[in-house]
Amino acid sequence: MNDTIAAISTALGIGAVSIIRISGDQSISIVDKIFKGKSLINVPTHSINYGHIVDSDKVIDEVLVSVMKSPKTFTREDIVEINCHGGIATTNKVLELLLINGCRLAEPGEFTKRAFLNGRIDLVEADGVMNLINAKTEASRNLAYSQLSGKVSNLIKNLRQEIIEILANIEVNIDYPEYEDIEEVTNQKIISNLETIIEKINKMLQESNNGKIINEGIKVGIIGKPNVGKSSILNTLLEEDKAIVTDMPGTTRDIVEGIINLDGIILNIIDTAGIRDTSDIVEQIGVNKSLKIIDEADLIIFVLNNNDEISEDEMNIIKKLNKERDIIVINKIDLESNLDITSLKDFNIVKISALKNSGIDELKDVIKSVFNIEAIGSLDLTYLSSARSIALLNKSKEEMLSAIESIKNNMPIDIVEIDIKASWESLGEIIGETYQDELINQLFSQFCLGK
Ligand code: GDP
Repeated sequence: MNDTIAAISTALGIGAVSIIRISGDQSISIVDKIFKGKSLINVPTHSINYGHIVDSDKVIDEVLVSVMKSPKTFTREDIVEINCHGGIATTNKVLELLLINGCRLAEPGEFTKRAFLNGRIDLVEADGVMNLINAKTEASRNLAYSQLSGKVSNLIKNLRQEIIEILANIEVNIDYPEYEDIEEVTNQKIISNLETIIEKINKMLQESNNGKIINEGIKVGIIGKPNVGKSSILNTLLEEDKAIVTDMPGTTRDIVEGIINLDGIILNIIDTAGIRDTSDIVEQIGVNKSLKIIDEADLIIFVLNNNDEISEDEMNIIKKLNKERDIIVINKIDLESNLDITSLKDFNIVKISALKNSGIDELKDVIKSVFNIEAIGSLDLTYLSSARSIALLNKSKEEMLSAIESIKNNMPIDIVEIDIKASWESLGEIIGETYQDELINQLFSQFCLGK
């Protein structure tokens, strides 16, 4: 842990400047060995120093060297950053000299890992660092910054504090049951305090989901039996959107058939080719494939033909749809209606004609309102981005629910206390109050080299 690490922090390639970052006890003395200029050992902290990088007597490059002494640095260790000319050859040569003179090549994310281990940032803030680097839109940049700045971590810390107060009250009651001045914690009060915390957790979970929508978009599956007009609807949606994003690293492109930008939120239309494969059997809708897509998608657009009656297969799929979320599109309204929709009245229904390009705006409006798209773009969200943190938040909530359940079942208070303590610990794990080495190694290895 205490060895001095070095890595190229800028993207490796042709560029005006490259930055090589060094962190650890020896960073100043190692760079000093290959630097010709002022003695770096004696320069003030947080200073930028002009000079040359040399290999024995040979000048390699003209550079600026930033010296930042512990503890006010990103890793809380001594950090030196060498600004050299960009380009692969010079940058690699400087790095090579550092390695020869006693640095070890940093692992991916190792600077951020040290920042965490030395208490400079917590795990939610570390997620924020990664999200900020990966942010592609203004909205996702905003979200990442609020994670990075500690706002989200503070909310978690506040919840933990509230739990501590509940636990303290319980302890007082256990330790001094006969002490009359101390307010007796009634079971009712514990329940209501826990419920208030659970409400806050639910809000965080909801907002994290909205954050996910901002960062990753909404997975949409267009399903329906052959020839109802699925491809026509997709094409109409795609044609209308002139700003089709063609390259979105990180999204599951292999299954995405089309990408639409709806007021800044990305809709990833999932490929339903599998369903079309069965079109030789005209009435077969590919029920199993549809069910799989229903499982995978955030939103289903289920297409019916206005000119046709609803088949049994279609009814079977409709039963699996989510009434609050999914949309039934009745296509081909330019043709005679043979469709009885009385059984569908609880659903969001949009009537369109893909052929005549009518009703498409209404379809977009319904999608926007289902996901509250206009609002989420402008909200100040609490965003937990990693599956790990969300799972822990849910775990903490379950533990509180279990504590409430135990109280209602008149279980002894120390049993209740165990669940409440567990929920406090789960929240602590989110920010990394307690952690396992393996988890930390795995987490930081997802970072890029030099970060
Ligand atoms: P898919 O198999 O569900 O993808 O259906 P397609 O999009 O390939 O459409 C099947 C047929 O229906 C094509 O001949 C389309 O031109 C036609 N079609 C699609 N939408 C409409 C519509 O709104 N009205 C009419 N009359 N025909 C349509």
